[in-house]
Amino acid sequence: MNTLKKMQVLSDSAQYDVCDHVNHYRKSDVNLPGIHNATVPGGCKIPLFKTLMTNKCVNDCKYCINQSKRNFTRLELSPDELARAFLNYYYNDYVQGLFLSSGIARDVDDTMEKMLDAVKILRKNYGYDDYIHFKVIPGASKDTIKRTMTLANRVSLNIESATPDGMSEISSNKDYNKDILKRIGWINSISKRKNSIMCSSSTTQMIVGANDESDVEILSRIKSLYKNYDLSRSYFSSFSPIEGTELEKKTECNKQRTNKLYHADTLLNTYKFDLKELVFEENDQLSLKDDPKYLAALERDIFPLEINSVPFYELIRVPGIGTISAKRIMAIRKKKPFTKLEELKKIGVVVDRAEPFIKLEGNYQVVLDNY
Ligand code: SF4
Repeated sequence: MNTLKKMQVLSDSAQYDVCDHVNHYRKSDVNLPGIHNATVPGGCKIPLFKTLMTNKCVNDCKYCINQSKRNFTRLELSPDELARAFLNYYYNDYVQGLFLSSGIARDVDDTMEKMLDAVKILRKNYGYDDYIHFKVIPGASKDTIKRTMTLANRVSLNIESATPDGMSEISSNKDYNKDILKRIGWINSISKRKNSIMCSSSTTQMIVGANDESDVEILSRIKSLYKNYDLSRSYFSSFSPIEGTELEKKTECNKQRTNKLYHADTLLNTYKFDLKELVFEENDQLSLKDDPKYLAALERDIFPLEINSVPFYELIRVPGIGTISAKRIMAIRKKKPFTKLEELKKIGVVVDRAEPFIKLEGNYQVVLDNY
């Protein structure tokens, strides 16, 4: 099979690795396999070549297209083949970076070595110095992780579930504490050795709806990863049943659920909300209808807040005020107090949402009970 055909298959198999939270299936305008838009450190979006080294895998993750029990064509790119295919895209300006993942053909470190060989060829033989996101394989040795982090700009290791029990529901091979949490800890400690390390950030990914874990369990785990391991961000992949897997008859995860998890994740990570501030339904799930920030605000008795004096951490708890508009408010009110809603609208506040929760110069804008 020629390289282009292999890339078609392997990049399709890589689509379940999320690299953009808005729409991770969106592909670039160029009709070539493996090109996906992605959000990179710093927040900009760039087109990446996203592929697996191989779709062979010895593991049996029940949700996964590549799991060992599925019967389909298995392929592998050699490190040199992958490097040349990527550079062909790169030099033609189709992509600005590489997102490299893999199934486990024989064992974990053999796979990591092959992936590392591809990256080394790019960096050392061809002098490629642009963006590389490298998916560390669960169970990888500390040495291979360390060497990866001297060559890649970002690494990630998919945590997949929130608890060890949740993991055993979906995979019989992966040891949650040893193969995943311990390795995420290593990534964090290695990233602090600034001298020889190129990698500036790490992320993870959870699959939502493949097991019975609740949103409380998922967000508790994510919050603890942010706190203990300096994780840059987390991605949520909505479970979707794949033919030929044990979960082929399981119901697809409602996309609204992952959307709400992303909202809640932003509140925990960027807005520094405590998990206790979020509102969950009786089954420990987020509401699929309402915005988590709005529901959290309804539960707090701090509102209405005076826009001209409230501290930053309370200002960003107002629905309709994000971190950027809050910073603008802080800067402007030092020179002149806000007196009209129109002034807030001009700097990006979503006034319709914020209005019931704020006061301007002591005047309450709308009575919340009547809203
Ligand atoms: S380790 Fe699990 S999730 Fe990763 S490719 Fe293999 S079967 Fe799929």
